[in-house]
Amino acid sequence: MNRVSVALERRSGAWRPPTLQTLPSAVAANVAEMRARTASTIMAVVKADGYGHGAVTVARAAVAAGAGWLGTTSVAEASALRAAGLAVPILTWLHPSGIDAEAAAATGVDVAVGSVDELRALLAQAASPVRIHLHMDTGMSRGGCPRGRWDELIGLARRGQRARRVRVVGVMGHLPLADRADPAANASAVAGMHEARRAVRAAGLGSPLAHLAATSGTLTDPATHFGMVRVGAGLVGIDPSGTVEMHGASRLTAPIVHTTAAPAGTPVGYAGTYVTDRATHLSVLPLGYADGIPRERLPQAGVEIRGRRFPIVGRVSMDQIVIDTGAEAFPVGTSATVFGPEGGATPGLRDWARWAGTIPHTIVTGIGPRVRRSIA
Ligand SMILES: *Cc1c(COP(=O)(O)O)cnc(C)c1O
Repeated sequence: MNRVSVALERRSGAWRPPTLQTLPSAVAANVAEMRARTASTIMAVVKADGYGHGAVTVARAAVAAGAGWLGTTSVAEASALRAAGLAVPILTWLHPSGIDAEAAAATGVDVAVGSVDELRALLAQAASPVRIHLHMDTGMSRGGCPRGRWDELIGLARRGQRARRVRVVGVMGHLPLADRADPAANASAVAGMHEARRAVRAAGLGSPLAHLAATSGTLTDPATHFGMVRVGAGLVGIDPSGTVEMHGASRLTAPIVHTTAAPAGTPVGYAGTYVTDRATHLSVLPLGYADGIPRERLPQAGVEIRGRRFPIVGRVSMDQIVIDTGAEAFPVGTSATVFGPEGGATPGLRDWARWAGTIPHTIVTGIGPRVRRSIA
């Protein structure tokens, strides 16, 4: 599209750049779904910018709907939530360059401590008591203190608490089988959490808040709920267990920027991997793999325009995709929905995940910075 036509579109008001819109009402509905399934406190996990939906937007909607805690991976993410006025307790759990006790205390956030070394380093620098959650490995071998060293970690935490450098306020684990609705498979992690809680109590550290489950456990297995559940994917409508219909909380739209009539036998895109088999119309959307559209061959992928689904054809380019609209010739500026809350012809994140052979999380967290953000 040349400069003149862009200017004309802007003037006519039809031009709306590619936009990822977040739907706070869907986040609220998803929190309500969780609350219907558990009496435990709900922590809204808004890491990775709220799974691509905007951490502050998702956090505000979730807290307003009854989430009592927030969770992020870093203290920096937590600071942004505090700066936005969110006052509920916040837990952070990844500290690749060590826990910054001063920043944690200044921001008023809790930190998860997943190893004896991490706790030792924290105790060496903590001036005022830092609120900590002992992160126990309950079978994932990705984070948390391995079982063989729980006693050592708990003993060190007790000494740290006596010296007023830390306060143990939580005990956490994580379920390795996030994408399976199978209570039997969670049993050993649940037993591990009970054991960790007993050991902490026996050490004279009281009964700190215990938390194990993420979205899948919250939706499918009450035995995993303990005092709090940590829900991330479910907030934005993704159910990894595939058992509950949640509410999609985002919508990606893009305007048609170019439309042409194409005769049968027209090759489309790089290498001409798609050739029209009839006279048709082709439209271009200004989104490509640099914006997070999967580049893998996606023969079933399509977008919604005015209530109908049209296929994406040819290779996905860095900045553009082409759709085949058949007999329809949509004018430039017509809005296409790439994904949104499922229903009718609109593809959902689940559809994209299936087309690309991945999970919905990677689609929505992959939408790039050129795409404008808005809130419904
Ligand atoms: C991401 C994360 C969660 C949330 O998981 P979902 O499946 O997205 O709900 C919970 N706990 C920890 C430790 C996490 O890293």
